[in-house]
Amino acid sequence: MTANILDGKAIAAELRQHIRQQVQARLAAGQRAPGLAVVLVGDDPASHIYVSNKRKACEEVGFVSSAHHLAADTPEAALLALLDELNENPEIHGILVQLPLPAHIDSDKVIERIVPHKDVDGFHPYNVGRLAQRRPLLRSCTPKGIMTLLARTGIELTGLDAVIIGQSNIVGRPMALELLAERCTITVCHSRTRNLAEKVGQAQIVVAAVGVPELIQGAWIQPDAIVVDVGMNRLADGRLCGDVQFNTAAQRASWITPVPGGVGPMTIASLLENTLQAAQLAQ
Ligand code: NAP
Repeated sequence: MTANILDGKAIAAELRQHIRQQVQARLAAGQRAPGLAVVLVGDDPASHIYVSNKRKACEEVGFVSSAHHLAADTPEAALLALLDELNENPEIHGILVQLPLPAHIDSDKVIERIVPHKDVDGFHPYNVGRLAQRRPLLRSCTPKGIMTLLARTGIELTGLDAVIIGQSNIVGRPMALELLAERCTITVCHSRTRNLAEKVGQAQIVVAAVGVPELIQGAWIQPDAIVVDVGMNRLADGRLCGDVQFNTAAQRASWITPVPGGVGPMTIASLLENTLQAAQLAQ
């Protein structure tokens, strides 16, 4: 292996420590602890794990978190009414609705019901629009976490050719806006992209956010490229694996994120940063 590791686990731990200190300073100044409301609809086991990890992270840094677990057949109107209440509640600074929602609920409607200054996932069109206009407010957690990871590792991005694989609203698209804001030249690939290998081979920075285990072959990676693997794929044997063939890609890349221990912890750290920022905005 020749690549250096982009150590999300270590950098996220530093960020959490810094957030914990800022919470203590708020309390010492007589201000409220940041409050995060986490809303989960239904019984998807993976969503349960994500939600409990996020709440645990909140409690570790001294936030107050409240959980709202609704039955899978909850009517959309009842979820919207809960969001209206949380929007009005001064003790709640951030609201997170765990996706995916059951099919009878319109996710876009739900995302837009959260007031933008409490949208700590950064999914509301207002927050995405602010990022598109290079005036970001609350930024989508995974792309923000990746930018922080790269910045804190000391990687200079200006002018790099970037290839993002995946164009979802929560990862690929905001990632393109983040890298564009740093003046990278962006190519976004998706399921209809032709000659994916060739496109990946042109990249000085590759961000893979697909959800297909090891789709991106190590042999495609340009020598010395930076490789960021967002994929979190659970294999039949229970192992977690990324969208990039780690062992072969690490022979060619200059920097690479491991899975786990790369992007995942940075996503949670960004959620904490956003919640603290939302509490500061509320003041
Ligand atoms: P998503 O909404 O399913 O989007 C997947 C994207 O990949 C789509 O744009 C799709 O193209 C594209 N795609 C699918 N097959 C492809 C192929 N063969 N070649 C090229 N592109 C292809 O997924 P997501 O929510 O963005 O998540 C992507 C992955 O990241 C998943 O493994 C997820 O678990 C993981 N994730 C990790 C974190 C973290 O914190 N580490 C956070 C979020 C997501 P079309 O648009 O054409 O369909």
